[in-house]
Amino acid sequence: MSALDRLRADLAGIALAEDAATVRMASRDFFWFSPVLKPELEGKVADLVATPADKDELRRIAAACARHRVPLVIRGGGTGNYGQAVPLAGGVVVDMRQMNRMVFAKPGGARFEAGANMLDIDKLLDPHGQELRFHPSTRAQATIGGFVAGGAAGAGSCTWGQIDNLGAVTALEVMTVEAEPRLIELRGREILKVMHAYGVNGIITEVEVPTAPAHDWAERIVTFDSLTAAARFGQAFMECDGIAKKLVSVHDPRIVPYLKRLAPYLQEGRAFAILMVSEPQADTLDLLIADHKGEVTFRRGAAEAKAVAFGTHKGRGGPGPLYEYTWNHTTLHALKMDPSITYLQLRFPAPNNLALVEWAAKEFEEDVYFHLEFQRREGKVITSSLPLVKYTTQARLEEIMARAAEGGVQPSNAHTFVLNNAGWKRIDAPQPEFKRLADPHGLMNPGKLLGWEAEAQQAAE
Ligand code: FAD
Repeated sequence: MSALDRLRADLAGIALAEDAATVRMASRDFFWFSPVLKPELEGKVADLVATPADKDELRRIAAACARHRVPLVIRGGGTGNYGQAVPLAGGVVVDMRQMNRMVFAKPGGARFEAGANMLDIDKLLDPHGQELRFHPSTRAQATIGGFVAGGAAGAGSCTWGQIDNLGAVTALEVMTVEAEPRLIELRGREILKVMHAYGVNGIITEVEVPTAPAHDWAERIVTFDSLTAAARFGQAFMECDGIAKKLVSVHDPRIVPYLKRLAPYLQEGRAFAILMVSEPQADTLDLLIADHKGEVTFRRGAAEAKAVAFGTHKGRGGPGPLYEYTWNHTTLHALKMDPSITYLQLRFPAPNNLALVEWAAKEFEEDVYFHLEFQRREGKVITSSLPLVKYTTQARLEEIMARAAEGGVQPSNAHTFVLNNAGWKRIDAPQPEFKRLADPHGLMNPGKLLGWEAEAQQAAE
């Protein structure tokens, strides 16, 4: 009897899928955004998909994998961009999406099972007058566990920062992969051990986060003469602490042709900003827009914007939620029109973020189209970008990242599935050491964290 047969026998009564189509779909994510990752990861599949209904079933899966030494990859919405959720060594994909309950919600904080979808979370929080502080542009597909284990920032980050900032997550409950799995509660800086670790060192079972008072978020599109003018406006809006905001996203005019659904509201040759602002303050924002000679081309009130996002809007036509044109959704829209597009991940730190943007826009003018996702991090305004790149070669991508770094911009490599190479491995909260404890047999997402055995050994000595 093979290890897989023994595993199957142990998992009787748990939802398992083994048909080729289901297994193939559950073994993919959005790695195909990268022409570098595409050939490396295409065709890698698990042997079966297990969907636990609750923690007891998950515990049985973790125990069986440990007993029979079968690799496992934890999966949320499967929207990661780096092949984080692609199984490199077969085994089991564990689909967490049935573990989606709200544990509690109180003013200022809430706790969820890790498979809870982020849009559903905001629907659950809505009657409490609360919302998630920030969510990725994949709010409709992503899970909160997947966001902690593989994401970074999104709509709301203009006010609340990024997932690894102290205070962004209150607590995580993690299940170990051992013959007798344990539950470990991580709080404070301990959280960083499994934060953005691609599920290599424990299964996140519950996530507790601070919440924000829910605003009525109105949407706006505003056009400007140039990227520089739009970026200056973006900075001024960010620095206007008196106006509550959820999204400040500024785009190069050359992105206009890629956002088809926004075409009625964009103008050829003009840069544009996509904004979410607290509705009672939208008139005040108009003053700032006028100061910067912007032209408002699209206004959507908060009630309609929320209905569109929550899927309850009765009207037809009109764009989807505006955040679905920002962050890495811009790449998705561009790729639909031009398969030669890819992207990079760059950060322009304070206080020279605007000067750096101006430098980079000139330096890489030929093949890089910037959109700027403004963030407030650790009290400062910074600019993130997932710029579109007209792809030629991997060497050119590396050249842009190296040159950008020389100029003072901070790249993180989006074209690797290896955590060690992406710039996210935590040295201050060692991920390898925690892996030794939570995944002693090295079964979790093999191939994503390299050299962990030696590092964990060294730390123990
Ligand atoms: P998955 O893709 O399922 O998993 C991500 C990683 O986490 C995998 O390594 C997986 O093994 C691991 N994992 C999942 N659940 C668990 C768990 N419970 N315990 C342990 N490990 C787990 N990201 C952003 O940060 N901001 C954005 O605005 C953004 N925009 C995007 C736009 C597009 C069009 C696309 C395709 C991606 C975008 N992303 C963005 C990336 C991705 O959508 C987010 O990071 C999202 O939060 C991932 O959640 P998920 O549930 O889909 O995770």
